[in-house]
Amino acid sequence: MIEVTFHDTPQVRADCPCRVCGATGGQHILTVSSHLGEHRLIECLSCLSHYFDGVDPVIGYHSFVSEAFWLDYVQAGAGITTMLAPLNALDPVPEGDLIDVGCGFGFVVDYWSSNHGSAVGLESSYYGEVGRAKLEVDIRPQMLDAYRHSEPDRQFAVVYSSEVIEHTPDPESFMEDLVSMLDQRSVLVLTTPSTTAIDPASDRARLIAALSPGFHYAMLSEQAMRHMLNRRGLHFRIETHDGQMIVWASRSELPAVAYGRTDWPRYFAFLERYARHKDPHIAGGALARLLKDGLNTGFADVAEAAWNRLLALASEAYGLNLMQADIARLLEIRTPLAELERYPSWLGTVLLFGGILVGHRDNDRRTKLRMVDDALTVLRRRADVDLQFGQEAQSFLPFAERQYVIALSEAMTTSLLASVQMGDHADLSSSLQVLSDVLARARGGDAQ
Ligand SMILES: [Zn+2]
Repeated sequence: MIEVTFHDTPQVRADCPCRVCGATGGQHILTVSSHLGEHRLIECLSCLSHYFDGVDPVIGYHSFVSEAFWLDYVQAGAGITTMLAPLNALDPVPEGDLIDVGCGFGFVVDYWSSNHGSAVGLESSYYGEVGRAKLEVDIRPQMLDAYRHSEPDRQFAVVYSSEVIEHTPDPESFMEDLVSMLDQRSVLVLTTPSTTAIDPASDRARLIAALSPGFHYAMLSEQAMRHMLNRRGLHFRIETHDGQMIVWASRSELPAVAYGRTDWPRYFAFLERYARHKDPHIAGGALARLLKDGLNTGFADVAEAAWNRLLALASEAYGLNLMQADIARLLEIRTPLAELERYPSWLGTVLLFGGILVGHRDNDRRTKLRMVDDALTVLRRRADVDLQFGQEAQSFLPFAERQYVIALSEAMTTSLLASVQMGDHADLSSSLQVLSDVLARARGGDAQ
């Protein structure tokens, strides 16, 4: 569990200069506690960026088994559409090579090299090594300056860095390294959590994502970002979408930017390659995304095909029957990202969307109710136990709760109608009893 406490009367921290601009006199505005300990967030009164105090607040990476980290990432953690959106927003998308600085598992490197030009990714964490082997993409275990020494003449049309700058102890020098990669025509595409999410009124999933205690050094304000780009004489555009600040910058005029365009058929074709991957965690992660995104974007055939294949994969790779999942053991696991070889991170969303699909397709209200009920339980556990890795679950919870009420009323209506038609008053009264129990439970906010 992550606890966030905003302080009504912030304390001045003269001892702790801003990691972004170096100013002193920032205010300690909140404390966040998790299994990684207590982290204190300071707001800089000069550049309005937010940063954690302490010599090195980034301890999170050491506390997770690396294997779990990449499993979670491919199963559900990686927001692939969110990673691609800032690139697809460029009109036209630049022709040429791309470098992805801090590329993680390498999904963007793979996407670019399959659709646009050649691509190289830099990643020193373990999941970059796994991604290179599994996706067969060009990922180097290097920092940017080391890479530049090894290939000083290589030019890139796009210098891309998504959700990395907040993990660097010195954002100014990281930005300097990125900008030094730009030639006259290349475009820098950078994303980072927006400081606007750090607000008591903010959605909890977004707030925890922005803070990610134990993983982030500093979150740049838009003001600080503008200042960094202006000082380097760049043309730029900054937008904030869903708690994320997105920057496009260039030494010359930028291409047009229209954020929000997704070429769904192209994206589905990209995922389809992974859906056939021999590693079941990669294949299952792709199928789970095809199911969810297919349903959400009206591509019912894509979702249906993905669901049918997931049923088989879940059974073969995880021993799970999705139509009647045995989740009792999962609920006992209280360690973040544990046992992902048995209970994949996508389980909650797949039960949710699978339940909706089955209910609609087969007119099977009883199965839908059971699956959505299980989905809600699994999503709640993931949001609670898997901490910042459970953001997607956290953000789907309100939707899952609404779906549960819908599934419940459908199932009860069907059952009551059947009892009335049969003239079975004993069954009718037992159905009414079940309905009243369930409604009482729903009012208590606990549908487990
Ligand atoms: Zn500052």
